[in-house]
Amino acid sequence: MSHHDVIVVGAGLAGLACAAALKDAGFKTVVLEATDRVGGRATSDEVDGFILERGFQVLNPAYPHLRATGVLAGLDLQPFPRAIRVRRGGQIDELVDPTRHPRSVAQDLRSGLVSPRDLAAARLALQLTSADRRRGDAFDAAGFRGPLRRHVVDPFLAGVVCEAEGSTSLRFTAWLASMFLRGTPGLPKGGMRRLPEVLADGLDVRLDHRVTAVDTVASGVSTPHGDFTGRALVLAAGPIGAACLVGEQPPVTHPTTTWWFATDRAPSHSGAIHVDGESSGPVITTAVVSHAAPDHAPAGQHLVTALTLAEGDVTDGDRAGGQAADRGVDEQQVLAHLGHIYGADTDGWRTLAAHRIPQTLPAVVPGQFAHGRIGYRDEAVLCGDQFGNASIDGAVASGQAAASEVIRRLRTQMPEGRTAR
Ligand SMILES: Cc1cc2nc3c(=O)[nH]c(=O)nc-3n(C[C@H](O)[C@H](O)[C@H](O)COP(=O)(O)OP(=O)(O)OC[C@H]3O[C@@H](n4cnc5c(N)ncnc54)[C@H](O)[C@@H]3O)c2cc1C
Repeated sequence: MSHHDVIVVGAGLAGLACAAALKDAGFKTVVLEATDRVGGRATSDEVDGFILERGFQVLNPAYPHLRATGVLAGLDLQPFPRAIRVRRGGQIDELVDPTRHPRSVAQDLRSGLVSPRDLAAARLALQLTSADRRRGDAFDAAGFRGPLRRHVVDPFLAGVVCEAEGSTSLRFTAWLASMFLRGTPGLPKGGMRRLPEVLADGLDVRLDHRVTAVDTVASGVSTPHGDFTGRALVLAAGPIGAACLVGEQPPVTHPTTTWWFATDRAPSHSGAIHVDGESSGPVITTAVVSHAAPDHAPAGQHLVTALTLAEGDVTDGDRAGGQAADRGVDEQQVLAHLGHIYGADTDGWRTLAAHRIPQTLPAVVPGQFAHGRIGYRDEAVLCGDQFGNASIDGAVASGQAAASEVIRRLRTQMPEGRTAR
């Protein structure tokens, strides 16, 4: 039996942010992680000299709670271009962010995808957040229905919030948009795994310690390596893991598959996100990742990612070698669609992996969006991105809020003479 001030279950971003705040406050904290690494959903693999994010994701340096941890200073962020490339009909248009590149306005307008009327309607929709609603309904109500919505914003947002029906909270969507305006997302050198590695620095993390049972009243847990007790217990085991531990129904999550391909010849000169403006196939978003993050591919080769949304309840799990598939979507369809989006020949592309992730993002439906929300089960505190903000920043904010709650409780019960700050 091992005793600590606080037991944190799960070394994802929420658990690590929580443990880091507890350690700073002087509490003896142990983090128990089921797998062989820290990071949870934010991690990377190495395959044949390529760095593959385990599910394509980007880090936005504007995220406020993440910034507050100070970890960004320890990461060498490689930014993506502030542009999006749209395949429509027989052509590809590049829209460049006019807020950073004012001279691109003429080019953006010439594309026929952007009009002052559409822009005004989009801005109006994103400002009308006093009553939350589905993003799709909010765009309709504001009159945001033109080419910018249909061919650019809807396909792009589907990749960001991992659903194409428009069901996500408008408030959450508006917050994400404000983050995109403030910060330029990128990938850390070495991969997304660097983020949790830096966060975990100096923490007592026990890997391969899957918690098999929790006592949410007495703040104890069981693992194959023995039992742990604490004065407080935090469950940061992800939407499905935490629900399993406390015997509750997991929240709705949006599953995705990220496909990774190697090619000798890049299908685009740009590292920008590409979308199919006519949504004529399974790929939602794609990018030549190695243009933005050259360390992600060996010299002379290129790394292309493609995101597909999974429908239904496929439970394939992750499989290397392109075998995993969303129901009805296979590797050949993905390659054919990529050929269309880039206007390039994908013959000879080599599939490196297909990451099927059932709990990519918890759904954030109208009324749910929140920063730093936590849950409770008896004496245990629950945190993670399932509490109203399905993002890196949401996970960190919830973890920090869980730490504040635990610190408040422990300080009120702390015996005299304890020195925790
Ligand atoms: C494909 C993909 C793309 C994404 N894109 C973006 C993006 O571009 N921008 C963005 O901001 N966010 C993105 N996200 C979301 C972001 O990665 C998550 O919001 C965040 O990592 C969630 O962290 P968490 O700590 O809440 O949960 P998790 O990362 O799920 O961590 C839970 C941890 O608990 C562990 N665990 C579970 N059960 C047990 C147990 N019984 N015992 C011990 N340990 C246990 C798990 O192994 C895991 O390490 C993306 C996610 C995915 C998967």
